[in-house]
Amino acid sequence: MRIGLFGGSYNPIHNGHIDLAARIRAQFGLDRVLLMVAKDPPHKQLAGNVDASARFCMAEAALANMEGLFASDLELKRDGKSYTVDTVRELLRLYPDAEIFLMVGEDMLRNLPTWREADVLLSLVTVLATARPGVEGTLEEAAGVLRKRFGAKVAFASFEGQNVSSTMVRKRIEEAKPICDLVPPEVEKAVYENAYYREESAAAMQEKLRLSLNKRRYEHSVGTMREAIVLADRFGADPYKARLAGLLHDCARFRPEKLMELAAHYGIAVDDHEREVPELLHDRLGAYIARDAYGVRDDEILDAIRCHQLCRESMTLLDKIVYLADKIEPTRDYPGVEALRTIAAADLDRAVLACMDSVHEHLIREGKRIKQEGERARQAFHALFEQK
Ligand code: FE
Ligand code: FE
Repeated sequence: MRIGLFGGSYNPIHNGHIDLAARIRAQFGLDRVLLMVAKDPPHKQLAGNVDASARFCMAEAALANMEGLFASDLELKRDGKSYTVDTVRELLRLYPDAEIFLMVGEDMLRNLPTWREADVLLSLVTVLATARPGVEGTLEEAAGVLRKRFGAKVAFASFEGQNVSSTMVRKRIEEAKPICDLVPPEVEKAVYENAYYREESAAAMQEKLRLSLNKRRYEHSVGTMREAIVLADRFGADPYKARLAGLLHDCARFRPEKLMELAAHYGIAVDDHEREVPELLHDRLGAYIARDAYGVRDDEILDAIRCHQLCRESMTLLDKIVYLADKIEPTRDYPGVEALRTIAAADLDRAVLACMDSVHEHLIREGKRIKQEGERARQAFHALFEQK
């Protein structure tokens, strides 16, 4: 069996890693490539402070459907400092007939002579040096040293890889920019649901939300945050406000009794319809809870939360984004949602209008009562849209 060994921090794993592993596997006819997740360094933190088991879980999820590519936690399970030579020895114990191909980048190729038991390591593996096109020439010298000094087998794999790095992914997360084009959906989901690579206060806020909602509602909230980030980027809204408003839009999705209690506490006038269906109060109460329980002071964000259910007559860009994100986020699965996503890819107003209409039709089909505020907002939006 021909096994590729591709070590890294995978902090987090991204499309560039996966693309590289898949191409190397094809080019060298490898049966499998193991993406070996590195341990947490003993005395310092990796950027973002996401521990090795979480990095491994993301890698495993990302590769679940990739033929011949596997995340490995072999090094994580071993005590003490981890050396590649030990990993190779262990692999050869597990797969006695295996031929091991050690994938290294340009810098690593030059440093290989300084690695632990380099002579043993190089007698056990074939080195696959991955290089950008045009760089092979400058690597020949390093390869020559390895061949001459250690009798190493060195081969080159060169291609134009995707321009992605883990640093880039973490930076995008910090800046509330989309990461869907850099990492597989499974990684994106894990990053958002666990607030990976976010500052402590943001992670604490998200944990508080998680504890106050059921699992489905929490996943919907995170999905709405994800979608709001994507839409804000697409239509030029403030990404930080969109992220926060998307996350918290349903923060008052409590039990009916609690909603009634809170409505009394905040002096919200409750009509018959709302007494019958207290969930209808969760938008207005959400704005209060976001302010009082989550410390949000930004009126634009609070307004977007307040009108995410019924809209309002003059909607801001942020209002529209939160409203739409709520309806088309990734966990949403109802007839017509794909069509709405398609419209949202190009035209925000048209998508918002289509959502309003689809909610309206749904209520009529189900024989439900229609809230006047919502219907006024929908009519106003229609009028506005037809003027354009
Ligand atoms: Fe809601
Ligand atoms: Fe919602």
